[in-house]
Amino acid sequence: MGAGNAHWLSPRSGIRFLLGAWLLLPLDGPCFGQAAGAPAITPGGIVSAASYGTAVAPGSIAAVFGNFLLSSPSSASSLPLPTHLSELSMQFDGALAAPLFYADGGQVNIQIPWELAGRSQAMLTVTVNGQTSPAQAVDLVAYAPGIFTANSQGSGQGAILDLSNRLVEPSNPATAGSSIVVIYCTGLGAVTNRPASASASSVNPLAVATITPAVSIGGAPAQVLFAGLVPGMVGEYQVNALVPANSATGDAVPVTISAGGYTSNAATIAVKAPPAQMDPDYRAGLLLAQMTQAEKLQLVHGAGGPVTNIFPLPRGAGGYIPGIPRLGIPALYFVDGSTGLADSSAPATALPSSIASAASWDPALAYKFGSVIGSEMRAYGLNVNLGGNVNLTGREPRDGRTFETKGEDPILAGKITAAHIRAVQDQHVVGGIKHYALNDQETGRTTANVQIEERGARESDLLAFEIGLKDSNVQSVMCSYNLVNGAYSCQNQHLLNEVLKGDWGFKGFVMSDWWGTHSTAAAALAGLDQEQPDNAFFGSLGQAIASGQVPQSRLDHMVHRILRAMYQSGLFDFPEALAPVDTATDEAIAREAEEQGAVLLKNAGGLLPLNASTINSIVVIGSHANIGVLSGGGSAQVWPTGGWARRDGQPCPPCWAWVIWDPTSMTSAIQAMAPRAAVRFDDGTNLTRASVVAGQNQVVIVVVSQWASEGMDLPSLNFTDVINAPPIDQDALVAAVATANPHTIVVLENGGAQVMPWLDSVNAVLEAWYPGQRGGEAIANLLFGVVNPSGKLPMTFPASVADLPHPTIASPPDSATPFPVNYSEGFNVGYKWSDSNNLTPLFPFGFGLSYTTFSFSNAKLVDNLASSNPNFRVTFDLKNTGPVAGAEVAQVYLGLPAGTGEPPRRLVGWQKVFLESGALQHVTVEVDQNDSSHPMSYWDTSSSSWRTAPGDYTVYLGNSSASASLSVVGTLHVGP
Ligand code: BGC
Repeated sequence: MGAGNAHWLSPRSGIRFLLGAWLLLPLDGPCFGQAAGAPAITPGGIVSAASYGTAVAPGSIAAVFGNFLLSSPSSASSLPLPTHLSELSMQFDGALAAPLFYADGGQVNIQIPWELAGRSQAMLTVTVNGQTSPAQAVDLVAYAPGIFTANSQGSGQGAILDLSNRLVEPSNPATAGSSIVVIYCTGLGAVTNRPASASASSVNPLAVATITPAVSIGGAPAQVLFAGLVPGMVGEYQVNALVPANSATGDAVPVTISAGGYTSNAATIAVKAPPAQMDPDYRAGLLLAQMTQAEKLQLVHGAGGPVTNIFPLPRGAGGYIPGIPRLGIPALYFVDGSTGLADSSAPATALPSSIASAASWDPALAYKFGSVIGSEMRAYGLNVNLGGNVNLTGREPRDGRTFETKGEDPILAGKITAAHIRAVQDQHVVGGIKHYALNDQETGRTTANVQIEERGARESDLLAFEIGLKDSNVQSVMCSYNLVNGAYSCQNQHLLNEVLKGDWGFKGFVMSDWWGTHSTAAAALAGLDQEQPDNAFFGSLGQAIASGQVPQSRLDHMVHRILRAMYQSGLFDFPEALAPVDTATDEAIAREAEEQGAVLLKNAGGLLPLNASTINSIVVIGSHANIGVLSGGGSAQVWPTGGWARRDGQPCPPCWAWVIWDPTSMTSAIQAMAPRAAVRFDDGTNLTRASVVAGQNQVVIVVVSQWASEGMDLPSLNFTDVINAPPIDQDALVAAVATANPHTIVVLENGGAQVMPWLDSVNAVLEAWYPGQRGGEAIANLLFGVVNPSGKLPMTFPASVADLPHPTIASPPDSATPFPVNYSEGFNVGYKWSDSNNLTPLFPFGFGLSYTTFSFSNAKLVDNLASSNPNFRVTFDLKNTGPVAGAEVAQVYLGLPAGTGEPPRRLVGWQKVFLESGALQHVTVEVDQNDSSHPMSYWDTSSSSWRTAPGDYTVYLGNSSASASLSVVGTLHVGP
């Protein structure tokens, strides 16, 4: 049946949706064979298409049975409905043509024209090939409610959906007392804003039934929240009703609709008893029932004031919604927090960039990373987190926000983000994931119109969100600024109602990115639950409801989602408790996250780790390494505990974000590590001086940095100084220093992929990302081997911008006009792009060196695909064959059958294993076929579902995505 594709009060083009099964195909009614002769309508053969009752109401949908002499079926393909299908037409009283949905030899589906309102009978004839049948009487009544059913016969499972567009059936029962169900029906009579016959109902304003019908569910009266025509449909009504608390329960609970003295057929739904008191949906429903309309409206938009005047908000929050003390509803304080608390909140622990957290490949450590954010939020009384940036980096590594993300692979990004969010929500604050979706470049971010086909989206950026939210039970989603396939993300019916709330079953609330809302009714109907940071559009939501553009039930649903998020996260059960921040614990985690996330990219001749006992002199050059380390800018900017080390101006673009250098001096940490060495600093502004000083010292450490921020993309992948005027040519600096000193180590402070024209001339390169406020010490620990590097790249470092899917960043023509950004690479993001195009990156995804060596042996593939929990396992022995303890990230990749069109390999699992020198561990990486990451599946566009193709799957094991570092473990076979 077609109800699974239904959409809640949303206009759609054309009519081949929702009730297509009923309206465009024959009903399983009395069968009338095709015969020669004149056309005829069967006496009594005109019935409501929903209830099969013989009384029909103007405006509604009827099925007419007879002998229509048509050799093949014919369906309407556009609106308004035609009055001819093939050579067939129907007339009331010989003159008024009936709008036609469908016709075949024995059945015609029509709309009863609105023009018949007020009549009690009309005569219907059919004309086929110029021959007109005898007339048959049609009994007309003002109201003839009929509920569509799954079997098209007017009884059994009703076409009744939940608010996520799912059929309310035994596998998805409604909850007595709290669920709202959407009943698709016909025959509810007169409406406001009545469309013409044959024409679709409009969305603005909605067509509301002039008499509110009575609904009975499970023998008890149900509160009706909306009754009217379905926008975009002809003759089809919907009734939204709250399942009563005293409804009967079971798999086949009867539902009827009564209006004007007529009662519909009884369709059925599944209803379950109210859950225990602690269920967040149940509790949200109870609270919602006590709220006034004004109180409800208060929760669906920020109180940030007009665009020019949002700050300061209480507690330094980035967004704010006052509480409702009368009902004990706490205020909501929204705060950015990807790498620590941001906005104007009190100073907070500046963690390393999120990309460093992903580079640890360690979900347990990522959980600790998130716990810093969550616990500091709680300590400061901030309770909605705006972190969770899971946009993928691979399409556009010049994106200024890569430092906030988790890299290019949907599985790694999704799992690390989920760990952050779990930790945040475990601190009893609402977690967040953003920016939904495909917000992968900052250039023209508010007008970029991303073009991507469904499979490409589902297997890349959307997959990262799907994993992130399913694995974390996150309670808020921020929709993004950009458009996706022509619709702004914050009013994108497909993204919000269909994918997020429908397919993924997301139960929390959707908030807009700041000023990312573009409409009132359209956004609300498409699935936006909360406008931020102000009420520019949702300030009018009350009027939109009063005028019928948005049903009351939609507002109730928005508020329900917000309240359930608050219950689910513990905002009611764990009232705020302002407390001092545990700075020591949090800073220790910041240091550990950097130590585990930094990636050693090159170590020629074993220059690293440095041996303090043999070094007399070290010079550190550049990037203010004597006082601090760089951080990323924009809304994720953390104001570090203890104050910044240095603040530079606000580079343009973006022209509004500060350049903040976090405290901890690398030179001091290095000096502490090598007390007998003379440690000097040179600021790197003068190449000649820098190369002279480099030549005078035993070891030189050049720190190159790339500031990046929300609101900008990088001009290139080279280290480009966007801070100083005149800019420092850092590539030239490294080259000059390396010429002067054969022991040159380069430390990178940046947010994403870079190219390194000087790579061959230096001995060692350590990717430190933005290192966080304990970064100086962490880097010194890594350089001196106190900690053995174990980070692995979460994104490909391409050899050049020419190797990117988009060598040139698509740019807007002006600040207002949407412009296309064509993601024709689809799911081939990052290493999948490189592999599919035989490109050799500078450094591959998953790559990172260590001070020790590891061996993989005895690798075996265990095929459990036939078990009840289908999975496969890769087992192997991992041995630390080198001189020092260290950790390796064993990575499992899967090659799908060639016919699927997938890239050569996809990451499907990994494990980070720490081993003492000489130690061996037997390791198992399990890949579950039903994991949220769909590791063995591809998105099948024709069935709109994940499918596992028959064929051979090659399983690879190694320590990066590069084919040279992978071995085939075996092959899995699926299917015959
Ligand atoms: C950013 C979001 C952020 C919001 C609130 C927007 O400009 O895109 O990531 O959460 O501001 O600060």
